[in-house]
Amino acid sequence: MDEKDFALYPYISGASLHVKSLGMSLDRLVTSRAMESARVRGKERVLQAIEGELTKPNISSSDEQKILLELLSYPFSRILVSCIDDAFLTRRYCLAEAVASYRLLKMQKHDFLMEFASDFEVYPDESETGFKLHFSSYIRMASSLKAMEWKLVNRKLRHGNVNVSKEELARLLQELIKTRVEHNLPMAVPDELAEKCEPYLKEIREFLEERKSTFGESEFESVETDLFPPCVTHAIANTQAGVNLAHSMRFAMTAFLLTIGMSVDDIINMFGTSPDFDVEKARYQVEHIAGSSGTHYKPPSCSTMQTYGNCYAPDDMCKKISHPLNYYSRKLWFKKRDAQRNSGNQTAEKPEPVGNTTEE
Ligand code: SF4
Repeated sequence: MDEKDFALYPYISGASLHVKSLGMSLDRLVTSRAMESARVRGKERVLQAIEGELTKPNISSSDEQKILLELLSYPFSRILVSCIDDAFLTRRYCLAEAVASYRLLKMQKHDFLMEFASDFEVYPDESETGFKLHFSSYIRMASSLKAMEWKLVNRKLRHGNVNVSKEELARLLQELIKTRVEHNLPMAVPDELAEKCEPYLKEIREFLEERKSTFGESEFESVETDLFPPCVTHAIANTQAGVNLAHSMRFAMTAFLLTIGMSVDDIINMFGTSPDFDVEKARYQVEHIAGSSGTHYKPPSCSTMQTYGNCYAPDDMCKKISHPLNYYSRKLWFKKRDAQRNSGNQTAEKPEPVGNTTEE
């Protein structure tokens, strides 16, 4: 990999070593007039991440100035994200960096992908379908992907290896990139430096608030499929078995998954097995429910689900709640409480959530 690759993939080990070799201190990055273009691009990275699509520039290997600017904009964007220290922004920024890399990686040659993967201690070999990955690497990379197609049981295992296409390898690498970008974020920024970043932070804060009010912000920290209510679990199982869902159930499932923080892409992947699947139409519908038209839709309450015949096999927890989101938040609460009890820490227990999510 050369310096151009370091600029395009600034979180890889070679890139950080290269930045160190330049002798660039954080103070100089934040204050030097010569670094202004890198700071402006760093701010742009964060704004693009909030918008939902971080774009990488076209850079030629001979354009040293552009390479340096792009490379140094990355640590500055991390400083900005850390100064704002907002969980929604941090998640969105890490995802945007990872998705931008995925788009580049799926266009790369096999040799490049193999070298790139080795930076994450993944060593794919070429195969007839593209690549083969040792199953332990595959599990590590796919563990956060919710769609059934990524489950190991749905993959052919041959001599301990899983075959993946080039695009799938790039998608799996996206997960490792996201984790690496997330590492150490938010980092501690000395007050003096944070103050000097203020001129760049104002626009980001304003844009962030605007996007949050449009798209809503998930109150849930993680997506835990084993805690979903029976109605949603059943709908997902039907979708993945290729059974067409009623429109009302498809809406309820999508709104539920978006509200708990699942990404638009992961939901679209989930619909991929429906018999009438049309990716463009699905994206339009999911983004519409996510709030692209200005309205952020909430999933329906249990009584509405019952009215439309979408309440399926209610269990004991269902008797205590009136909304599928309350089912999920109570299950999460019990899981956390049990984990704390098992670790012997009972002091941090918060009160059990009540079933008070409002009607859609
Ligand atoms: S009672 Fe509510 S949460 Fe439970 S299955 Fe029915 S609709 Fe879903």
